[in-house]
Amino acid sequence: MINVLYAATSPTWEEYEAPLRRAFDAAGLAVDLRRDFAPEKVDYIVYAPASELTDFTPYVNTKAVLNLWAGVEKIVGNTTLTQPLCRMVDHGLTRGMVEWVTGHALRHHLDIDHFLDHQDGSWARYVPPLAQERPVTVLGLGELGAACAQSLAQLGFPVTGWSRSPRAVEGITCLHGPEGLDQALSTAQILVLLLPLTPETENLLDAHRLAQLPRGAVILNPGRGPLIVDQDLLAALDSGQIHRATLDVFREEPLPPAHPFWAHPRVTVCPHIAAETRATTAAEVVAENIRRSEAGEERLFQVDRSRGY
Ligand code: NAP
Repeated sequence: MINVLYAATSPTWEEYEAPLRRAFDAAGLAVDLRRDFAPEKVDYIVYAPASELTDFTPYVNTKAVLNLWAGVEKIVGNTTLTQPLCRMVDHGLTRGMVEWVTGHALRHHLDIDHFLDHQDGSWARYVPPLAQERPVTVLGLGELGAACAQSLAQLGFPVTGWSRSPRAVEGITCLHGPEGLDQALSTAQILVLLLPLTPETENLLDAHRLAQLPRGAVILNPGRGPLIVDQDLLAALDSGQIHRATLDVFREEPLPPAHPFWAHPRVTVCPHIAAETRATTAAEVVAENIRRSEAGEERLFQVDRSRGY
């Protein structure tokens, strides 16, 4: 019997218990799934960052901690966590992100807000360019960034992607490293941030970097709030350097009601909904990782602590 501790509070036990049990059965795993165990009896921990479990020291026999979130910045630095940590990559989450990014990119590309703002009887014609005339850059070419880049390229946008190490993604101009960033930003009429939050990526989009974008660029941030320096973005919006920003993630969540992003006429605030982990598909990933681990195979999506993601 494999002992699996469900240690997440959000998402809830009620949401995940049945999908996990179904997925374990489908994978042929004999699992005792519970919310409490003596720590030394736990083989695997299903985890999410807001959990009450923050000290992993007593879990001496635990073979892996399986995070239900894609981002691991809130757990990767926990010094008591010496067990392998896997993050969530799930089909439902990826499709959600592709739909969110594609939808908001098209909204800005077609300047839908302009028409919403001018329902006043005037017949001022404005014909937006075709996608092929609108270069897009995606910072981060991982599971989510690469999928979004390819979806945008299929619509005809010339897409540049940027990563830490060299990547090859079909149909995408791939750049990497600090030297690739200048070029990636210089053409980006729409900039999509899909980087993890690490010491290297925090505050990446500051005044200097925002100034490297073409004037009037649009920013979509479904990555993490601290990738952007808030005050620098507000100043760039006010100067016209940045035309609009659609932000899904923030330094403080929920975004405080007094934060200037709420009141800015060219900022759209979304409440961290770009891509949710879906219980059914995520449970299958958890089960597959336990199956692999028990069979001595390589686990999926294991986090590299030295990189921080
Ligand atoms: P991933 O597969 O780990 O990909 C991360 C990408 O970022 C990789 O291409 C990586 O480069 C690149 N990168 C990391 N550090 C870099 C640096 N210093 N310079 C240049 N590139 C760097 O992650 P993912 O699954 O695509 O997820 C990306 C992020 O999306 C998550 O970390 C999370 O913050 C966010 N997210 C948001 C939501 C939401 O609802 N808003 C939902 C899920 C995830 P390499 O390819 O060289 O490794």
